[in-house]
Amino acid sequence: MGLVLFLAVVMIVFGSIFVIAGGTENTVTGLIIIAIALILIYYIYRTDKVKASQPQVVQQTVNVQMGGSGQLNQKAMTCKNCGAPLSDKDLKLVEGAVLVTCPYCGTVSSFEEAPKW
Ligand SMILES: [Zn+2]
Repeated sequence: MGLVLFLAVVMIVFGSIFVIAGGTENTVTGLIIIAIALILIYYIYRTDKVKASQPQVVQQTVNVQMGGSGQLNQKAMTCKNCGAPLSDKDLKLVEGAVLVTCPYCGTVSSFEEAPKW
């Protein structure tokens, strides 16, 4: 990402030289180069903004199958704070980790799948 930004800056400088050099052809070429550079910068900015605007907890509807496979530790399905039972609808998958939000006290705890030895 930094390389693209550097490239964009170089293109702006390069384009400016063309514009300063004068002549219709040079000016048009310079403006096109600057325009491409600005589009690059806009793209970088927008990408960064999209990343930044993403909430910490990604609201993903994930059907986490609790029954059957027994991969998840059933003992973990109570709130660590208040001991309330937690159901699979309280689970959220966030960046590969399973987070569970207690519907009673709001405690967010993460638990991973039991290691498969
Ligand atoms: Zn709780």
